[in-house]
Amino acid sequence: MSESAVRVKRLEAEKLDAADELAPLRSRFVLDDVVYLDGNSLGALPANVPGRVEDVVRRQWGELRIRSWEESGWWTAPERIGDRIAPLVGAAPGQIVVGDSTSVNVFKAVVAAVRMAGEDRDEILVDATTFPTDGYIAESAARLTGRTLRALPPAQVPDALGERTAAVLLNHVDYRTGRLHDLPSLTAAVHEVGAYAVWDLCHSAGALPVGLDEHGVDLAVGCTYKYLNGGPGSPAYLYVRHELQDRFDSPLPGWNSHTDPFGMSPSYAPAPGALRGRVGTPDILSMLTLEAALEVWDEVSVSAVRAKSLALTDFFLECVAAYTEPGRVESVTPEPHEERGSQVALRCPDAGEVMKRLIARGVVGDFRHPDVLRFGFTPLYVSFGDVERAARVLGEVLV
Ligand SMILES: *Cc1c(COP(=O)(O)O)cnc(C)c1O
Repeated sequence: MSESAVRVKRLEAEKLDAADELAPLRSRFVLDDVVYLDGNSLGALPANVPGRVEDVVRRQWGELRIRSWEESGWWTAPERIGDRIAPLVGAAPGQIVVGDSTSVNVFKAVVAAVRMAGEDRDEILVDATTFPTDGYIAESAARLTGRTLRALPPAQVPDALGERTAAVLLNHVDYRTGRLHDLPSLTAAVHEVGAYAVWDLCHSAGALPVGLDEHGVDLAVGCTYKYLNGGPGSPAYLYVRHELQDRFDSPLPGWNSHTDPFGMSPSYAPAPGALRGRVGTPDILSMLTLEAALEVWDEVSVSAVRAKSLALTDFFLECVAAYTEPGRVESVTPEPHEERGSQVALRCPDAGEVMKRLIARGVVGDFRHPDVLRFGFTPLYVSFGDVERAARVLGEVLV
């Protein structure tokens, strides 16, 4: 790596940081001198969270106790926080409920989609490159509903669709490569054959525009501890499009989704609207942590985040090209912006060892088996200076 190349890139980073309108948001997070590029696995801690957790635990729970279900808004938190996530994924209010894990919500969504599709549709399609849990759950959902599951790469989905297709489960962004799939056109293709589209937004929500309402997505799920910074194990969310809510037949009809939960009726009658997606008592501590973490979004638009995200990943790829020997690493993340999420995945044979060295040098990404170095870029708190430093340290540990 030449000194002049480093000088050029450092200067560029300074200029990009100086022009970055989102730069002030960095102070809203608890960071240190580590370059943190693993926000696509666990987002950094928002600075307002510890105080909120303290209040929820000491005052709401410690002093108000049972009164907090009403007085502190605990009971309505799943829908309230769902409405807070809604604008981030392009949804009007009343269609998102927060709770349970992504895995559990995948189960609810896929089974409900199959039930909507009707008896004569006997096949479920799933992204073969999916994060494993989605595949496992889809397989079980297929078994339980008596359907067959077919796994195939998203690009092959349009040709595989037909009148047998009940539901299709897809990832918006591939967790390994960072590839952004074409949600509008795939959803349209699914609808053309009369099937239902379920999207997993784990790696897109909070990083790029999703447009759930605009593109007519039927059902969607996502986690909140990645780009939404909700904290370890923060609850996931489930989106059910307005027009489908009356037909959403949950495979987990817990008492929290009953139309009259305190009627304590022995028979189940589903609540109207998004809260039909609830199951049991919400995990209030995690949920209210998430609510505090989402406050930063009051000051930022998803389109500004997307613009910075693309600038960060572009700059990272440029710096890596400038700082590493040609051929030493190979990017598996697509070049075109319309096919790129908010991460860069680089392949090299010794990726596991390389990531250990990077972490030891204060650059935190992660390793995905067998040979992928994964770097996630959270535009709310990652700077262009971070990007330059990460690429420089990578260049140093790769020689
Ligand atoms: C992170 C992630 C999950 C996580 O599921 P949990 O139930 O929260 O553990 C699921 N699906 C995808 C695509 C993910 O990226």
